[in-house]
Amino acid sequence: MGIDKRSGKAYYLTMKDFRIRVYGHVWAQELLRRAVQQGATRHAYLFAGPEHIGKMTLARAFAQALTCEHPTGQEGVGACGRCRSCRLTAEGMHPDHRIFAPEGSQLRIDQIREVVREAALSPVEGRYKVFIITEFERANVNAANALLKTLEEPSASTRIILISHQPSGLLDTIISRCQLLRLRPLPEREIVSALQEQHGLSELDALRLARLSNGRIGRALALAETPDSWQSYNQRLQEMQAILRYSPAQRIAHAQMLEKHPQLETILQEWLMWWRDVLLLQMQAPDLVLNRDHLAELTHLAQTIPGPQIRRFIEATMTTAGYLRKNVSRPLAMEALLLKAPKHG
Ligand SMILES: [Zn+2]
Repeated sequence: MGIDKRSGKAYYLTMKDFRIRVYGHVWAQELLRRAVQQGATRHAYLFAGPEHIGKMTLARAFAQALTCEHPTGQEGVGACGRCRSCRLTAEGMHPDHRIFAPEGSQLRIDQIREVVREAALSPVEGRYKVFIITEFERANVNAANALLKTLEEPSASTRIILISHQPSGLLDTIISRCQLLRLRPLPEREIVSALQEQHGLSELDALRLARLSNGRIGRALALAETPDSWQSYNQRLQEMQAILRYSPAQRIAHAQMLEKHPQLETILQEWLMWWRDVLLLQMQAPDLVLNRDHLAELTHLAQTIPGPQIRRFIEATMTTAGYLRKNVSRPLAMEALLLKAPKHG
């Protein structure tokens, strides 16, 4: 607090809050916060879970709390968000934090050797040196083994956070030396509030993005940040409606193109949301429709395609989305799905 010289009134300095905000994963944030505040953190952690759910953000927030000068916060992972160390972390400039990611398709052994070498040194500024290694499943056996000794006999001031989308691909010897935190996709509600808080989206737009992202907060935020994302969204909806007019041969050709699409999972979510809207219109529930800016097209489909056909296609789309997660042949799954799309026009 200070005193304003001219008015003589007391004022509070408005200090920027540099805390790294983590959405969801409340149990993990609490667990890490308690460990930080009790001085009981483990030497190594493994954050495992699907892509784009915020594992890296959680790791960065944890690193921030580990080196924070006053980690007594009662929210998030406990960093104060005000000290020099917290600011450096937020700016990605902390000298005691190192983030390693695969270069090309692999985490290379010389990257891991760099971790090992630096882990033996004392921190520059704070209590800990923190190493975050992401996509650790991309470390081959030699690289993973190179880290083992550091995980077994870490220096007291080193903390290592491994991140993996596919922990089943990791060596047991690695997993057993880490505290494993299994993280899950976020509930729709939490993504909606994150989108509203960060981007001031309307309830409807936020809900639509939350649905599309399927619990992947990173994807939802990226969509909200990309100015042309709505444009390409609308374009993909046009393409989907064109499929309804295609012959079987055209459908197969289109399936072969679609199966290579990097965002195929999102596209199927878009289709589900679209056909759900058509069904809702058939059921006289227009208030629940999410694609309200496409009401004319949706209404036309609702009036011309029989309900059972729509239901069958929705089921087939859900089944296909499940297949894709299980690495079933993508071309075959997509061909079968497109052949089941309703015929129209
Ligand atoms: Zn701090």
